[in-house]
Amino acid sequence: MLSNREGVRVTPGRMMVEVTRLPGEGCRHHENGRCLYEEHLNPGYASGYRCAVLARWESAFDDFLVRAELFGVEQKAVPDLWDRQFQRMARKAFQCGEYEYNADGDVPACIHASGGLCRLRLPRCEGRCRHYQIEINEEQA
Ligand code: SF4
Ligand code: SF4
Repeated sequence: MLSNREGVRVTPGRMMVEVTRLPGEGCRHHENGRCLYEEHLNPGYASGYRCAVLARWESAFDDFLVRAELFGVEQKAVPDLWDRQFQRMARKAFQCGEYEYNADGDVPACIHASGGLCRLRLPRCEGRCRHYQIEINEEQA
């Protein structure tokens, strides 16, 4: 069996050539079977990777600030008012059918959330590709 630079295995056969990729584990862009290459290249650029719940909450917070300003709400009253509004809103609808509770996770405490992104929205790693980079942990560096 032969293996090229990108880790593609090539098995010569009598009639056809079978091509399979080596697993992407160990790549610095790999996380739970998903690929963070594009996110690492342009952090925050692909809004589709964001956790939908966090994105909605952020947009609700922006709307709230605009309304607070229009109604002349004093600056110091804003956190308290938002606290109450947020609790009502969060209780009313989480609005994500894929949410799974993770007691140890940061807001929104979902097992699919990672640094404000949703792993389910990231592209799958289909195996070692030309962007593969060996992950070097701090002890090895
Ligand atoms: S091997 Fe390629 S597809 Fe897989 S995580 Fe790394 S960069 Fe992404
Ligand atoms: S599954 Fe979790 S991380 Fe993904 S959008 Fe829903 S709440 Fe956010």
